[in-house]
Amino acid sequence: MASKRYRIATSCPQCGCSAVSNLSAEEIQERYGDVPNIEMECHACMRKYSTPMKDACPEWDAECRLRRGDG
Ligand SMILES: [Zn+2]
Repeated sequence: MASKRYRIATSCPQCGCSAVSNLSAEEIQERYGDVPNIEMECHACMRKYSTPMKDACPEWDAECRLRRGDG
């Protein structure tokens, strides 16, 4: 069974370059863990920045909250 994929969209605060990833829940857990902010590195200017998960992927953020049972 194919697992559901989540669209994570971010944009660099320095150059505005956007990045989109489609990851499964397992891949998100592995890469970012169950955290409110994700660490990204811009592929254009190499700047590291963090983005609130609720902005990058509201769907995943909502599922995390459901799992934690706080909303
Ligand atoms: Zn950049």
